[in-house]
Amino acid sequence: MVNTAVQKRIYLSSPHMSGNEQKYINEAFETNWIAPLGPNVDAFEKEIAAYTGVNEAAAVSSGTAAIHLALSLLGVEKGDTVFCSTLTFIASANPILYLGAEPVFIDSEPETWNMSPIALEKALREADSNGKLPKAVIVVNLYGQSAKMDELTALCEQYDVPMIEDAAESLGSSYKGKPSGSFGQFGIFSFNGNKIITTSGGGMLVSNDAASIHKARFLATQARDPAPHYQHSKVGYNYRMSNVLAGIGRAQLKVLEERVEARRAIFERYQLELSGIPCIQFMPELNGTYSNRWLTAMTIDEKEAVISVNQLIEFLAAENIEARPVWKPLHMQPLFKTVKYYSHYENESVSEELFANGICLPSGSNMEELDQTRVINRIKNFMTVKEVERRIV
Ligand SMILES: *Cc1c(COP(=O)(O)O)cnc(C)c1O
Repeated sequence: MVNTAVQKRIYLSSPHMSGNEQKYINEAFETNWIAPLGPNVDAFEKEIAAYTGVNEAAAVSSGTAAIHLALSLLGVEKGDTVFCSTLTFIASANPILYLGAEPVFIDSEPETWNMSPIALEKALREADSNGKLPKAVIVVNLYGQSAKMDELTALCEQYDVPMIEDAAESLGSSYKGKPSGSFGQFGIFSFNGNKIITTSGGGMLVSNDAASIHKARFLATQARDPAPHYQHSKVGYNYRMSNVLAGIGRAQLKVLEERVEARRAIFERYQLELSGIPCIQFMPELNGTYSNRWLTAMTIDEKEAVISVNQLIEFLAAENIEARPVWKPLHMQPLFKTVKYYSHYENESVSEELFANGICLPSGSNMEELDQTRVINRIKNFMTVKEVERRIV
């Protein structure tokens, strides 16, 4: 039973305003720029491009829209295939279906939990020998951790297949000093309410290819040809970001570094307090990478712990603490029942194991220290009780 009267709810990751958002919103109201274009949109695009070290950025209505535009710009159409990380949120792959193309899912590897270069190589080799290379590879940086970009980029270059970096969860992270989102032909970010910074809802498409980003803006505004009489020769979308929301994003971007530091501190404290429990292992941080630790994720070895992650999640829910399983791999989703999948090991799927044993803990940058103490203590107590029960049995 949830005892809401006594203990306030601790969320997985809730919006964290800086206090300056209102200033930009007011400016938009005072100048009557209440539209999917305007000075905040232009400035937010420039600021994100500068932050991530890319030439151009297009602010759009969601991260999903950004992926859709990237795939469109790469010419993905009916009958094509697109490779995609399997251990991710459905939004990484839904746009593949919007375009009538077919996804092929690639397993994770244990060091980053992200796309396995071994599995990708196998998939590319097979596709090549069948004469049907994918039109794109969508690489996800899970929970802020960069994928193995050197290896993945080399494979994409070898087979001449463009990469889209789904950096929806990894704004503020880096790989060998290079900002997350700046790898591949396109990078995408999300500013959904639960992400490290938010515009309530929104996204960004980034690229060094300025011409492609200009085209993205065109497609995102109904693909209106340059004529006064509303002429259209291509399918377009209504995907631009509101000038009001871009104002929120500008204020949020100014505190991104603080948000990353706060989330990393939360991760470090969980690790310090809980890694003494032998069945618990935390998501690794690959050498040379810097994760924003958007969500603290860990695995519980069920054989050693006698409890499953689901039991722990249920227990925490009853304590009014929101925890979640790791994303259910997309190749296991009913929607993708018939889709091809390449695993990291011959007979073992890394993503399936991470899903079976993985849990995300409350990680919001606005979580108070006492709240985190409560989460830690509840987990410690639960695990101790279960351990004692096991000994008695
Ligand atoms: C949040 C997220 C998206 C989509 O972002 P929206 O802005 O919600 O459309 C895409 N990919 C991943 C990995 C995400 O976590």
